[in-house]
Amino acid sequence: MAEVTEREVLAALRQIRDPARGGDVVSLGMISGVVVRDGNVGFAIEVEPERGPRLEPLRKAAEAAVEALPGVVSVTAVLTAEAHPRPGAAPRPQAPQPAAARGGLVPGVKAIVAVASGKGGVGKSTVAANLALALHANGLAVGVLDADIYGPSMPRMLGISGRPSSADGKILRPMQNYGLKCMSIGFLVPEDTAMIWRGPMVMSALQQMLRDVDWGELDIMIVDMPPGTGDAQLTMAQQVALAGAVIVSTPQDIALIDARRGLSMFNKVNVPVLGIIENMSYFLCPHCGERSEIFSHGGARREAERLGTEFLGEVPLDLAIRETSDGGQPVTVSQPDSAHALLFRQIAARLWQKLTGAETPVRAPPRIVVE
Ligand code: ADP
Repeated sequence: MAEVTEREVLAALRQIRDPARGGDVVSLGMISGVVVRDGNVGFAIEVEPERGPRLEPLRKAAEAAVEALPGVVSVTAVLTAEAHPRPGAAPRPQAPQPAAARGGLVPGVKAIVAVASGKGGVGKSTVAANLALALHANGLAVGVLDADIYGPSMPRMLGISGRPSSADGKILRPMQNYGLKCMSIGFLVPEDTAMIWRGPMVMSALQQMLRDVDWGELDIMIVDMPPGTGDAQLTMAQQVALAGAVIVSTPQDIALIDARRGLSMFNKVNVPVLGIIENMSYFLCPHCGERSEIFSHGGARREAERLGTEFLGEVPLDLAIRETSDGGQPVTVSQPDSAHALLFRQIAARLWQKLTGAETPVRAPPRIVVE
Protein backbone atom coordinates (compact mmCIF):
# COMPACT_ATOMS: atom_id res chain seq x y z
CA MET A 1 0.00 0.00 0.00
CA ALA A 2 1.25 3.45 -0.83
CA GLU A 3 2.45 5.48 2.14
CA VAL A 4 -0.04 8.06 3.32
CA THR A 5 1.22 11.56 2.54
CA GLU A 6 1.24 14.83 4.45
CA ARG A 7 -1.06 16.28 1.81
CA GLU A 8 -3.63 13.53 2.44
CA VAL A 9 -3.39 14.11 6.18
CA LEU A 10 -4.04 17.83 5.72
CA ALA A 11 -6.93 17.10 3.34
CA ALA A 12 -8.52 14.86 5.98
CA LEU A 13 -8.03 17.53 8.61
CA ARG A 14 -9.87 20.08 6.49
CA GLN A 15 -13.05 18.23 7.48
CA ILE A 16 -12.52 19.29 11.07
CA ARG A 17 -14.03 22.61 12.00
CA ASP A 18 -13.19 24.71 14.99
CA PRO A 19 -16.74 25.62 16.09
CA ALA A 20 -15.62 28.66 18.05
CA ARG A 21 -13.69 30.24 15.19
CA GLY A 22 -15.87 29.06 12.34
CA GLY A 23 -13.44 27.50 9.89
CA ASP A 24 -11.52 24.33 9.38
CA VAL A 25 -8.42 23.69 11.43
CA VAL A 26 -6.09 23.70 8.41
CA SER A 27 -7.31 26.98 6.95
CA LEU A 28 -7.17 28.54 10.40
CA GLY A 29 -3.47 27.65 10.54
CA MET A 30 -3.91 25.52 13.63
CA ILE A 31 -2.07 22.44 12.37
CA SER A 32 1.69 22.24 12.64
CA GLY A 33 4.47 19.73 12.74
CA VAL A 34 2.80 17.08 10.57
CA VAL A 35 5.03 14.07 10.41
CA VAL A 36 4.35 10.76 8.66
CA ARG A 37 6.57 7.77 9.24
CA ASP A 38 5.67 4.26 8.07
CA GLY A 39 2.00 5.02 8.37
CA ASN A 40 2.36 6.55 11.82
CA VAL A 41 1.11 10.12 11.80
CA GLY A 42 1.74 12.86 14.31
CA PHE A 43 0.78 16.51 14.35
CA ALA A 44 0.07 19.38 16.70
CA ILE A 45 -3.07 21.48 16.94
CA GLU A 46 -2.17 24.92 18.15
CA VAL A 47 -4.77 26.54 20.35
CA GLU A 48 -5.00 29.48 22.67
CA PRO A 49 -3.94 28.30 26.12
CA GLU A 50 -7.26 29.22 27.73
CA ARG A 51 -9.20 27.06 25.30
CA GLY A 52 -6.96 24.01 25.67
CA PRO A 53 -8.99 21.97 28.15
CA ARG A 54 -12.22 22.38 26.17
CA LEU A 55 -10.74 21.20 22.90
CA GLU A 56 -10.27 17.53 23.69
CA PRO A 57 -13.27 16.61 21.45
CA LEU A 58 -11.67 18.52 18.58
CA ARG A 59 -8.38 16.71 19.11
CA LYS A 60 -10.16 13.35 19.11
CA ALA A 61 -12.11 14.24 15.97
CA ALA A 62 -8.89 15.24 14.21
CA GLU A 63 -7.27 11.94 15.14
CA ALA A 64 -10.30 10.01 13.96
CA ALA A 65 -10.36 11.82 10.61
CA VAL A 66 -6.73 10.93 9.93
CA GLU A 67 -7.13 7.41 11.28
CA ALA A 68 -9.80 6.79 8.63
CA LEU A 69 -7.27 7.30 5.82
CA PRO A 70 -6.06 4.12 4.14
CA GLY A 71 -2.53 3.20 5.15
CA VAL A 72 -2.60 4.94 8.50
CA VAL A 73 -1.29 2.78 11.33
CA SER A 74 -1.50 5.19 14.23
CA VAL A 75 -2.31 8.84 14.86
CA THR A 76 -1.03 11.03 17.65
CA ALA A 77 -2.43 14.54 17.86
CA VAL A 78 -1.46 16.89 20.65
CA LEU A 79 -2.92 20.21 21.63
CA THR A 80 -0.21 22.80 21.99
CA ALA A 81 -0.46 26.33 23.18
CA GLU A 82 1.83 28.88 21.66
CA ALA A 83 2.40 32.01 23.69
CA HIS A 84 1.18 34.21 20.83
CA PRO A 85 -0.38 32.02 18.18
CA ARG A 86 -0.31 33.43 14.71
CA PRO A 87 -2.33 31.59 12.09
CA GLY A 88 -0.02 29.66 9.78
CA ALA A 89 3.06 30.79 11.64
CA ALA A 90 6.19 28.95 10.65
CA PRO A 91 8.40 27.67 13.45
CA ARG A 92 10.76 30.41 14.53
CA PRO A 93 14.36 29.95 13.48
CA GLN A 94 16.47 28.96 16.43
CA ALA A 95 19.95 30.36 16.24
CA PRO A 96 22.32 29.49 19.06
CA GLN A 97 22.16 32.09 21.79
CA PRO A 98 24.14 32.59 24.94
CA ALA A 99 22.45 31.11 27.99
CA ALA A 100 21.62 34.47 29.52
CA ALA A 101 19.62 35.55 26.49
CA ARG A 102 17.63 32.36 26.26
CA GLY A 103 14.04 31.95 27.35
CA GLY A 104 13.03 28.89 29.26
CA LEU A 105 13.80 30.37 32.64
CA VAL A 106 11.32 29.22 35.23
CA PRO A 107 10.59 31.73 37.98
CA GLY A 108 11.40 30.28 41.38
CA VAL A 109 13.73 27.62 39.97
CA LYS A 110 17.34 28.40 40.81
CA ALA A 111 19.11 26.04 38.42
CA ILE A 112 18.07 23.75 35.59
CA VAL A 113 20.42 20.86 34.81
CA ALA A 114 20.08 18.48 31.87
CA VAL A 115 20.90 14.80 32.12
CA ALA A 116 21.80 13.69 28.63
CA SER A 117 23.29 10.76 26.77
CA GLY A 118 24.67 10.23 23.31
CA LYS A 119 22.36 7.29 22.73
CA GLY A 120 19.47 5.41 24.31
CA GLY A 121 19.65 2.57 26.78
CA VAL A 122 22.68 3.73 28.74
CA GLY A 123 20.62 4.30 31.89
CA LYS A 124 20.20 8.04 31.53
CA SER A 125 16.72 8.04 33.08
CA THR A 126 17.78 5.71 35.88
CA VAL A 127 20.66 8.03 36.72
CA ALA A 128 18.44 11.12 36.41
CA ALA A 129 15.83 9.68 38.81
CA ASN A 130 18.41 8.59 41.38
CA LEU A 131 20.32 11.85 41.09
CA ALA A 132 17.14 13.86 41.69
CA LEU A 133 16.30 11.74 44.73
CA ALA A 134 19.87 12.08 46.00
CA LEU A 135 19.77 15.88 45.66
CA HIS A 136 16.54 15.82 47.63
CA ALA A 137 18.07 13.52 50.24
CA ASN A 138 20.88 16.06 50.57
CA GLY A 139 18.30 18.64 51.59
CA LEU A 140 17.44 20.42 48.34
CA ALA A 141 14.04 21.20 46.80
CA VAL A 142 14.05 19.27 43.54
CA GLY A 143 11.87 19.03 40.44
CA VAL A 144 12.14 16.56 37.58
CA LEU A 145 11.14 17.47 34.06
CA ASP A 146 10.91 14.38 31.90
CA ALA A 147 11.65 15.74 28.45
CA ASP A 148 12.40 12.33 26.97
CA ILE A 149 9.61 12.63 24.49
CA TYR A 150 10.62 9.42 22.71
CA GLY A 151 10.22 7.28 25.80
CA PRO A 152 9.16 9.14 28.92
CA SER A 153 10.03 6.86 31.82
CA MET A 154 9.86 9.13 34.87
CA PRO A 155 6.21 8.28 35.68
CA ARG A 156 7.19 4.60 35.93
CA MET A 157 10.57 5.13 37.60
CA LEU A 158 9.19 7.49 40.22
CA GLY A 159 6.08 5.39 40.73
CA ILE A 160 3.66 8.12 39.66
CA SER A 161 0.46 7.52 37.76
CA GLY A 162 -2.60 9.55 36.90
CA ARG A 163 -2.79 12.95 35.32
CA PRO A 164 -1.80 16.34 36.64
CA SER A 165 -4.71 18.50 37.72
CA SER A 166 -5.28 22.19 37.32
CA ALA A 167 -7.14 24.56 39.60
CA ASP A 168 -7.83 27.18 36.95
CA GLY A 169 -7.70 25.17 33.72
CA LYS A 170 -4.43 26.86 32.73
CA ILE A 171 -1.65 26.07 35.14
CA LEU A 172 -0.98 22.43 35.95
CA ARG A 173 0.06 21.20 39.35
CA PRO A 174 3.13 19.01 39.04
CA MET A 175 2.78 15.41 40.16
CA GLN A 176 4.70 14.48 43.29
CA ASN A 177 6.31 11.47 44.86
CA TYR A 178 9.22 10.81 47.23
CA GLY A 179 9.41 14.56 47.85
CA LEU A 180 10.05 15.39 44.18
CA LYS A 181 7.87 17.46 41.91
CA CYS A 182 7.62 15.91 38.50
CA MET A 183 6.20 16.65 35.09
CA SER A 184 6.44 14.31 32.16
CA ILE A 185 5.09 14.24 28.69
CA GLY A 186 4.11 10.74 29.81
CA PHE A 187 1.40 12.22 32.04
CA LEU A 188 -0.15 14.00 29.12
CA VAL A 189 0.09 11.25 26.51
CA PRO A 190 -0.40 7.52 27.25
CA GLU A 191 2.88 5.59 27.50
CA ASP A 192 2.01 3.18 24.68
CA THR A 193 1.09 5.87 22.17
CA ALA A 194 3.36 5.95 19.16
CA MET A 195 5.39 9.06 19.79
CA ILE A 196 6.24 10.81 16.61
CA TRP A 197 7.41 14.25 17.28
CA ARG A 198 9.14 16.89 15.32
CA GLY A 199 10.80 20.12 16.27
CA PRO A 200 7.84 22.45 16.71
CA MET A 201 5.74 19.90 18.59
CA VAL A 202 8.59 19.00 20.85
CA MET A 203 9.27 22.59 21.61
CA SER A 204 5.73 23.57 22.42
CA ALA A 205 5.30 20.54 24.68
CA LEU A 206 8.53 21.43 26.45
CA GLN A 207 7.66 25.09 26.79
CA GLN A 208 4.28 24.11 28.18
CA MET A 209 5.88 21.94 30.82
CA LEU A 210 8.22 24.76 31.80
CA ARG A 211 5.78 27.63 31.65
CA ASP A 212 2.35 26.25 32.45
CA VAL A 213 3.29 24.23 35.52
CA ASP A 214 3.25 25.52 39.07
CA TRP A 215 6.77 24.40 40.00
CA GLY A 216 6.98 26.64 43.04
CA GLU A 217 10.37 27.29 44.62
CA LEU A 218 13.01 24.78 43.58
CA ASP A 219 16.74 24.68 44.19
CA ILE A 220 17.26 22.54 41.16
CA MET A 221 15.31 21.06 38.28
CA ILE A 222 16.67 17.93 36.64
CA VAL A 223 15.71 17.56 32.98
CA ASP A 224 15.76 14.03 31.60
CA MET A 225 16.67 14.80 28.00
CA PRO A 226 15.78 12.65 25.00
CA PRO A 227 18.74 10.41 24.16
CA GLY A 228 21.00 11.41 21.31
CA THR A 229 22.42 14.57 19.89
CA GLY A 230 20.15 15.32 16.95
CA ASP A 231 18.19 18.43 16.10
CA ALA A 232 15.48 17.85 18.71
CA GLN A 233 18.06 17.64 21.47
CA LEU A 234 20.00 20.63 20.24
CA THR A 235 16.85 22.74 20.01
CA MET A 236 15.88 21.72 23.52
CA ALA A 237 19.28 22.55 24.89
CA GLN A 238 18.85 25.99 23.34
CA GLN A 239 15.36 26.59 24.57
CA VAL A 240 15.84 25.82 28.23
CA ALA A 241 18.05 28.11 30.28
CA LEU A 242 20.34 25.31 31.40
CA ALA A 243 22.84 25.99 34.15
CA GLY A 244 24.71 22.89 33.10
CA ALA A 245 24.54 19.37 31.76
CA VAL A 246 25.57 15.95 32.95
CA ILE A 247 26.38 13.23 30.45
CA VAL A 248 25.67 9.60 31.19
CA SER A 249 27.72 7.04 29.32
CA THR A 250 28.45 3.34 29.48
CA PRO A 251 32.08 2.29 29.34
CA GLN A 252 32.00 0.84 25.84
CA ASP A 253 33.97 2.88 23.38
CA ILE A 254 31.08 3.29 21.04
CA ALA A 255 28.98 4.84 23.77
CA LEU A 256 31.86 7.14 24.53
CA ILE A 257 31.99 8.33 20.97
CA ASP A 258 28.35 9.24 21.42
CA ALA A 259 29.14 10.88 24.75
CA ARG A 260 31.70 13.05 22.98
CA ARG A 261 28.96 14.16 20.60
CA GLY A 262 26.86 15.10 23.61
CA LEU A 263 29.68 17.16 24.98
CA SER A 264 30.19 19.05 21.76
CA MET A 265 26.45 19.64 21.44
CA PHE A 266 26.37 21.44 24.80
CA ASN A 267 29.55 23.30 23.94
CA LYS A 268 27.87 24.54 20.78
CA VAL A 269 25.07 26.15 22.79
CA ASN A 270 27.36 27.41 25.56
CA VAL A 271 26.01 25.13 28.26
CA PRO A 272 28.74 24.01 30.64
CA VAL A 273 29.13 20.25 30.93
CA LEU A 274 29.41 19.60 34.65
CA GLY A 275 30.75 16.12 34.16
CA ILE A 276 30.33 12.56 32.96
CA ILE A 277 28.80 9.72 34.94
CA GLU A 278 29.80 6.25 33.88
CA ASN A 279 26.85 3.90 34.24
CA MET A 280 26.96 0.09 34.16
CA SER A 281 30.59 0.64 34.90
CA TYR A 282 31.31 -2.78 36.34
CA PHE A 283 29.21 -5.76 37.32
CA LEU A 284 28.42 -6.52 40.94
CA CYS A 285 27.46 -10.16 41.36
CA PRO A 286 24.20 -10.31 43.33
CA HIS A 287 25.25 -13.63 44.88
CA CYS A 288 28.83 -13.19 45.93
CA GLY A 289 29.26 -9.43 45.67
CA GLU A 290 32.27 -9.93 43.42
CA ARG A 291 33.10 -7.11 41.09
CA SER A 292 33.77 -7.95 37.43
CA GLU A 293 34.79 -5.57 34.72
CA ILE A 294 32.53 -6.74 31.93
CA PHE A 295 33.09 -3.78 29.69
CA SER A 296 36.36 -2.01 29.26
CA HIS A 297 36.00 -0.25 32.56
CA GLY A 298 37.40 3.21 33.14
CA GLY A 299 36.86 4.57 29.64
CA ALA A 300 34.68 7.41 30.80
CA ARG A 301 37.18 8.55 33.40
CA ARG A 302 39.97 8.67 30.80
CA GLU A 303 37.71 10.35 28.29
CA ALA A 304 36.50 12.93 30.79
CA GLU A 305 40.11 13.81 31.60
CA ARG A 306 41.00 14.03 27.95
CA LEU A 307 38.04 16.31 27.26
CA GLY A 308 38.74 18.50 30.23
CA THR A 309 35.49 17.74 32.01
CA GLU A 310 34.99 16.12 35.37
CA PHE A 311 34.42 12.43 35.96
CA LEU A 312 31.58 12.50 38.47
CA GLY A 313 31.45 8.84 39.35
CA GLU A 314 30.87 5.28 38.29
CA VAL A 315 27.63 3.43 38.88
CA PRO A 316 27.80 -0.37 38.80
CA LEU A 317 25.62 -2.64 36.71
CA ASP A 318 23.54 -4.13 39.45
CA LEU A 319 20.29 -6.02 39.52
CA ALA A 320 19.08 -3.94 42.48
CA ILE A 321 19.44 -0.74 40.46
CA ARG A 322 17.46 -2.16 37.58
CA GLU A 323 14.71 -3.77 39.63
CA THR A 324 14.16 -0.77 41.84
CA SER A 325 14.06 1.83 39.11
CA ASP A 326 11.90 -0.27 36.82
CA GLY A 327 9.64 -0.99 39.79
CA GLY A 328 9.07 2.67 40.62
CA GLN A 329 11.18 2.70 43.80
CA PRO A 330 14.68 3.83 42.81
CA VAL A 331 17.46 2.49 44.96
CA THR A 332 18.32 5.91 46.40
CA VAL A 333 14.93 6.12 48.10
CA SER A 334 14.07 2.46 48.66
CA GLN A 335 17.49 1.33 49.94
CA PRO A 336 18.89 4.51 51.48
CA ASP A 337 21.49 2.60 53.48
CA SER A 338 22.95 0.92 50.41
CA ALA A 339 26.30 1.71 48.85
CA HIS A 340 24.44 2.72 45.68
CA ALA A 341 22.36 5.32 47.49
CA LEU A 342 25.47 6.75 49.13
CA LEU A 343 27.18 6.90 45.75
CA PHE A 344 24.30 8.87 44.23
CA ARG A 345 24.26 11.25 47.21
CA GLN A 346 27.98 11.84 46.77
CA ILE A 347 27.57 12.55 43.06
CA ALA A 348 24.65 14.85 43.90
CA ALA A 349 26.72 16.76 46.45
CA ARG A 350 29.57 17.22 43.98
CA LEU A 351 27.16 18.37 41.30
CA TRP A 352 25.60 20.98 43.58
CA GLN A 353 29.02 22.16 44.63
CA LYS A 354 30.08 22.59 41.01
CA LEU A 355 26.90 24.50 40.26
CA THR A 356 26.87 26.85 43.20
CA GLY A 357 30.22 26.63 44.89
CA ALA A 358 28.32 25.63 48.03
CA GLU A 359 29.00 22.46 49.96
CA THR A 360 26.00 20.31 50.78
CA PRO A 361 26.62 17.63 53.34
CA VAL A 362 26.12 14.12 52.05
CA ARG A 363 23.40 13.39 54.53
CA ALA A 364 22.88 10.26 56.50
CA PRO A 365 20.21 8.18 54.81
CA PRO A 366 16.83 9.79 55.33
CA ARG A 367 14.00 7.73 56.74
CA ILE A 368 11.45 7.71 54.00
CA VAL A 369 8.71 5.16 54.03
CA VAL A 370 8.21 3.61 50.63
CA GLU A 371 4.60 2.66 50.16
P1 ADP B 1 17.93 5.39 29.02
O1 ADP B 1 17.18 6.44 29.75
O2 ADP B 1 19.37 5.73 28.79
O3 ADP B 1 17.26 4.89 27.78
P2 ADP B 1 17.12 3.70 31.22
O4 ADP B 1 17.47 4.51 32.40
O5 ADP B 1 15.69 3.62 30.80
O6 ADP B 1 18.02 4.12 29.98
O7 ADP B 1 17.71 2.25 31.49
C1 ADP B 1 17.56 1.20 30.57
C2 ADP B 1 17.43 -0.10 31.37
O8 ADP B 1 18.67 -0.37 32.03
C3 ADP B 1 16.39 -0.04 32.46
O9 ADP B 1 15.74 -1.29 32.53
C4 ADP B 1 17.17 0.23 33.72
O10 ADP B 1 16.56 -0.28 34.89
C5 ADP B 1 18.46 -0.51 33.43
N1 ADP B 1 19.63 0.09 34.12
C6 ADP B 1 20.04 1.37 34.05
N2 ADP B 1 21.14 1.56 34.80
C7 ADP B 1 21.41 0.36 35.39
C8 ADP B 1 22.43 -0.11 36.29
N3 ADP B 1 23.38 0.69 36.72
N4 ADP B 1 22.36 -1.42 36.68
C9 ADP B 1 21.38 -2.24 36.22
N5 ADP B 1 20.43 -1.86 35.37
C10 ADP B 1 20.43 -0.58 34.94
